[in-house]
Amino acid sequence: MLEKIRTIESGCQDNLARVSTLEELNEFRVRVLGRKGEITQLLRGLKDLNAEERLEIGKAANELKERLEKMIAARHEEISRRQLEIKLLNERIDVTLPGLPQQRGGKHPLTLISEEIQNIFSGMGFSIAEGPEIESDYYNFEALNVSRDHPARDMQDTFYINEDILLRTHTSPVQVRTMEKMAPRIPVKIIVPGKVYRKDDDATHSPMFTQVEGLVIDKTITFGNLKGTLMLFAQKIFGEDVRVRYRPSFFPFTEPSAEMDISCVICKGAGCRVCSHTGWLEILGAGMVNPRVLQYGGYDPEAVSGFAFGMGVERIAMLKYGINDLRLFFDNDIRFLQQF
Ligand SMILES: [Zn+2]
Repeated sequence: MLEKIRTIESGCQDNLARVSTLEELNEFRVRVLGRKGEITQLLRGLKDLNAEERLEIGKAANELKERLEKMIAARHEEISRRQLEIKLLNERIDVTLPGLPQQRGGKHPLTLISEEIQNIFSGMGFSIAEGPEIESDYYNFEALNVSRDHPARDMQDTFYINEDILLRTHTSPVQVRTMEKMAPRIPVKIIVPGKVYRKDDDATHSPMFTQVEGLVIDKTITFGNLKGTLMLFAQKIFGEDVRVRYRPSFFPFTEPSAEMDISCVICKGAGCRVCSHTGWLEILGAGMVNPRVLQYGGYDPEAVSGFAFGMGVERIAMLKYGINDLRLFFDNDIRFLQQF
C-alpha cells in the first residue's frame, strides 16, 4: 500500500508539471482529489485493513493529500501569474494611434449674458454685490416699502419656508442689505446679479429665473443720471443704433417709476410678431429710490438721492439670441447649449 502511495505521488508530480492552463489544473484536481479520485479511493480502501496498517497507511495517505493540495495551489498561482504577464505583453499601448477627442464644456447662455451685463456696468464704476436666496420677509418686502397687506405682494407670490422666511422674489433685498452696511457713506454704486423665485411656470415665466439689479446713491442723483446710465447700457448690449423710451409705471420701492423699452431688435421698430407690432420691447424697470427705502437702509432722504433698476437676464438673452421659449434655458439639452 505504501508503495502505491509513492507511485501515485510521483505520477501526480509528473502530470502536474505538464498542466499548462487553469482548466487543465482543475481537471487534474478532480482526477486526483475528487469524489472518484485516486486518493479518495485509497482512503476508502482503508476499511479492509487491520488496525495497525490502517493507522500507518491512513496517515501516509492524508499527508499525501495535504501535499498535493499545496502543490495544486502553488501551480494555480504560477499559471495565473504567467497568464497575466502574457495579457499585459499583448496590451501594449500604440502611441501612434490618434487620441480620443475631449468634450469641452462651455458657459451657459444665461451666465454669458449675466457676465456681459456685469462687465458693462463694471466699466461704469459699479461694483458687484450678492445676497442670500433664502431671504426674510423683512428684506424681501417690508424694507422695500411692501407692507404685509400691500397689493404688490400678489404679483410676487413665492415659496415660503415659514411665515417670515421665503425664497427671494427679486434681487432688491440686496439693495437694503448693502445700504445698511454702507450708510451713511456715499456713493453707493452696485450691480446685483442672482437667482430669484416666483410661483409662475409657462413659456415666458419660470419658477426660478435670473435678475440683475442696480443701485446708485449719491448727493445729487437725478432721473437724468438714470436715463444716461441705462441708455449707455442699452447701446453696449444691443448696439449703437438702439433707441429707448420710458413709460410711467409703479413699483413700491421707487418713486417715480418707469419701464424702459428698447426699439425692437428684430424689426428695428417697424413692427413684427416679437414686439406685437409696436416696434418696442420692454426690457427693464427702474425709478428713483423711494425716500422710505432710503430711510430703511439708514440714509437721510433729505441729504442723498438715488436710482435703481432691475432686469430679467432670461429676457435679455431671449432677445439677444432670438430664443422663443424660456424653458429651453433649463432643459439641459446639449444640442441647445452647444450653440452659444
Ligand atoms: Zn419687432
